[in-house]
Amino acid sequence: MEFRDLKRQYQCLKPQIDAAMMEVAQNCNFISGKQVTELEQQLAEYVGVKHCVTCANGTDALTMVMMAWNVQEGDAVFVPTFTFFASAEVVAFEGATPVFVDVKEDTFNLDADKLEQAILQVQQEGKLKPKAVIAVDLFGQPADYDRIEAVCKKYNLLLLEDGAQGFGGKMGERTACSFGNAATTSFFPAKPLGCYGDGGAVFTNDDATAEYLRSIRVHGKGSSGKYDNVRIGWNSRLDTIQAAILQIKLKAFAEYELKDVNKSANLYTRYLGDQVKTPVVPEGFYSSWAQYTLILKDKEQREHLQRELKEQGIPTMIYYPKPMHLQTAFAELGYKQGDFPVAEALCERVLALPMHPYLDESDIRFVCNAVKAALDL
Ligand SMILES: *Cc1c(COP(=O)(O)O)cnc(C)c1O
Repeated sequence: MEFRDLKRQYQCLKPQIDAAMMEVAQNCNFISGKQVTELEQQLAEYVGVKHCVTCANGTDALTMVMMAWNVQEGDAVFVPTFTFFASAEVVAFEGATPVFVDVKEDTFNLDADKLEQAILQVQQEGKLKPKAVIAVDLFGQPADYDRIEAVCKKYNLLLLEDGAQGFGGKMGERTACSFGNAATTSFFPAKPLGCYGDGGAVFTNDDATAEYLRSIRVHGKGSSGKYDNVRIGWNSRLDTIQAAILQIKLKAFAEYELKDVNKSANLYTRYLGDQVKTPVVPEGFYSSWAQYTLILKDKEQREHLQRELKEQGIPTMIYYPKPMHLQTAFAELGYKQGDFPVAEALCERVLALPMHPYLDESDIRFVCNAVKAALDL
């Protein structure tokens, strides 16, 4: 069994994907081909925002927003401590300070009450200027944007949605990657919408931001082309071949993959039920299930379960074993064990099961039976 079965997805989409890749090879329009522009329009339409600017990966997408907002030394940017490293890395990369915030145990996402406390504390200390919030749609579920947007408005902070894992999710009628002043996603192969290499995108309704992003992704180009350089930028483009693959995959995603992955999640939850702590999707929310994550009793129980499942040929993953505030790279920020108890406990107790749109009901029943047997349920 595969943790995320990309081979099976390719087998299903092979004729279209092969044709799309060959077309790029035949036209040799490897950089900034028409597929890139078409994909950007399709993605913007799917998400329901005015602009989509693709780039080389999800980390660059986050960084480009930091550049657009002129995030710099002396700025505080609030980030959940339970996330992938890139969410916080991009803040430090600009010389600004990531200020970590704990998450909610039930959704794994940023806790809006604790966000407000962290902002007040930074204000009180008076050393850093509160500038922005990066909220993460962890494991496929949008963060609590009603509350987070209200807090950002109250303290006049910019809001960036890190939707690297969230593409396809929803909160009410609003689609993931449409929240905040800008949103980003990643097309890393294992993400809900993945390509065949690295890729990423920024979404925004703001015309000036979109224009700036289109400039910096090609060496700060001006309006008269790439040998007219009006600012310092860099090189971060989505390859045409990746855009061509994503056009096929977006169609499958919108037509059936997102529905099917939700079917898989519902089956897991039904079979495991109240006997194991399964993921919670609050009323009005819809997840794209980048991960299906159980919370076990403790580290020992998790180790036991992971070992037993491995023996049955069932792969599992720990997202994430270490919170951001305890990462060696952030040691100089001075955080310590005990600062964010919810995230720290999650790091010891979470375990992600195989999850993707091509799981059969029999696969899911097999995994659930193995989980129950291992836990003596
Ligand atoms: C994967 C991921 C990123 C980075 O995306 P890349 O395309 O790998 O650079 C950023 N944030 C989160 C939450 C992610 O899961």
